[in-house]
Formats: sequence, C-alpha cells, structure tokens
Amino acid sequence: MGTFKCIGVLTSGGDAPGMNAAIRAVTRAAISKGIQVKGIYRGYKGLVTNEIEDLYSDSVSNIIQRGGTILKTARCAEFMTPEGRQVAYDNMKAHGMEALVVIGGDGSLTGARIFAQEFNVPCIGLPGTIDNDLYGTDTTIGYDTALNTIVDAIDKIRDTAASHERLFFVEVMGRDAGFLALNGAIASGAEAAIIPEYNTEVDQLDELIRRGFRKSKNSSIVLVAESKSKGGALHIAERMKNEYPGYDVRISILGHLQRGGSPTAHDRIIASRMGAAAIDALLEDQRNVMIGIERDEIVYVPFTRAIKKVKPLRPELLEVLRELGI
Ligand code: ADP
Repeated sequence: MGTFKCIGVLTSGGDAPGMNAAIRAVTRAAISKGIQVKGIYRGYKGLVTNEIEDLYSDSVSNIIQRGGTILKTARCAEFMTPEGRQVAYDNMKAHGMEALVVIGGDGSLTGARIFAQEFNVPCIGLPGTIDNDLYGTDTTIGYDTALNTIVDAIDKIRDTAASHERLFFVEVMGRDAGFLALNGAIASGAEAAIIPEYNTEVDQLDELIRRGFRKSKNSSIVLVAESKSKGGALHIAERMKNEYPGYDVRISILGHLQRGGSPTAHDRIIASRMGAAAIDALLEDQRNVMIGIERDEIVYVPFTRAIKKVKPLRPELLEVLRELGI
C-alpha cells in the first residue's frame, strides 16, 4: 500500500461537463483518507507558473451540478518541453505534492505519461472529454451531457425544419471520433450521420436523395462531425446545394454550447466514482493509469493503451441509423 501526505489535481485541455464533479470526488476522497489536496489552476500551465492553492472539503461544495471547471483549464506549450516540465516538477516538489491526478483528454494524459516517466511521479488520469474517444472506458466524463445537449438542440431544429420542409446539416463536435454524431443522430431520429470513422458520406447522401425525403417526410436532418480535412457541414451542404438545387438546405453549427451546461446524472455519477477510484488507485500503488468504467466496473487502463488504442465505434450503430431513418 502506498502512502501519500499531499497530492495535486488539475483539469487540462478541452473542458467537459462533469469535471467539477470529478474535482470534488478527488478532493473529498483524498481528504477522507487523510491526504491533503492542492488545486492546480489552468492545467499544466498552473504547474509551470505556480498557480496552486490548497483545496478543502468546502472548496468543492456546491459544484457537482456546475458545468466547466472551477480549476479552469488551458493549453500549455511550455509543458511540451523538457525545460517546462522541469519547472513544473520543481513547483510540484516545493508544494509537497507527491502525486498528480489529471482530468482531461488524450493530450492531457499524454502529458501526464511523459511527466510521470521523466520524474518518476505517480500520475493517475481521469477521462474528461465530451468526445468519448479514450480507449478502455465505456464513456468519458462529459460525453453523456454533450450528447443530451445535441439531442435537445436537434429536437428544436426539427420543429423549424419540419415547418419549412427543409434539409438540415447539423455540425457537432468530434473531429476524430464520431460518437457524438452517430449516437446523437440515433437519439434524435436523424436521417444520416457523417462521421470520421467511416467513409460513407456519399452513400448516405445518395440514399437520402433516393428516398426522396419530401415524399415521406417533412424534414431531414443529417449530423456531421466537425472535420479539418473534409470541411464539415458547410462543405457538405455546399455540395448538396450544387448537386441538388431543388432542396432547401440549411446549416446549423452547434459549436461551444455542446461543452457547457449542468452535467447529467450519468456524468456526475461516473465522475464521482472515477474520482474516488483515483485515490484508491494511488493507495494501491497504481501509477500511470487512467481510471475507466467498463460494464459498470472500475478498471485501470495503462496510459499507453488509453491514448494509443483507438476506441472502436460499433459499425452496427450505423446500420441501426440507416434502418430506422427510412
Ligand atoms: P486534450 O487533453 O483535451 O486532448 P490537448 O491535446 O490540447 O487537450 O492537451 C492539453 C495539454 O496537455 C497541452 O496543452 C499540453 O500542455 C499537454 N500535452 C499534450 N500533449 C503533450 C505532449 N506530447 N507532451 C507534453 N505535454 C503534452
């Protein structure tokens, strides 16, 4: 069994609803076990610039229901350099922190992996990202809330789309992973989803046209995962307008509203369980693992697996969408 007097916690990279619930869980689980907690502001940046404060049980009162992160988050270029990480390590030692809990996405966990190796510091990761793209956990903290936000928005878009008999392309987040787009499409009864994992854009749009949405439906909604290379909803809608000028095509880019809002019960529960499990993992002498939940069980996933392995998107989901979107 490991023993710790003091640990640090930070949130890094893209924010996600439920990060606050995770900070609360890490803080209170640590305090319950007699461990002091330091909150590091603005992710790795705060470790480099020494923005660090003690966290007490009441520092994390009344935050479980709040979106965003009370510790703030940032991207930190200095931490990508050995010199920057040395400063971070020196600050960590000066504050007496013996381990770190990092809440963030794959970039943040990559940083934790490198830092842990370089300085032999125990680091535990919690998967905090709306994209759900970390291997080894069924869902990530923030994904369920973002999915529900998307579904809510699409229900509203559907009302106007149906009134005007329009074809809507709705762009959602998920540059490298189609979980939000595909499951958002299924949950909102959309007609198609254009996602990075499968090259089905042309097939799906052809099918949509073949079905002739005006005959059987008042509106059609296609979810498009944002994309650097493919250009996202704007690009697809433009193509559609050129090829089928008869369609009344509209675009809606949901953008940052997908990151905000009060976390769902699911996200609060997984964040609470994972946060508490991070402290258990440290006390069990685990290091350099991400906490995941698979089939409702807490699992420890080595950083390298969580980051490098691609989380598969079940191909049958696309089939369900296709079958039900007739
Ligand atoms: P996310 O965690 O949401 O994927 P980023 O990819 O922006 O977000 O990463 C967040 C931060 O993690 C970066 O700004 C940087 O400080 C740190 N980081 C990411 N990749 C590395 C790396 N290869 N080496 C060191 N630090 C990294």
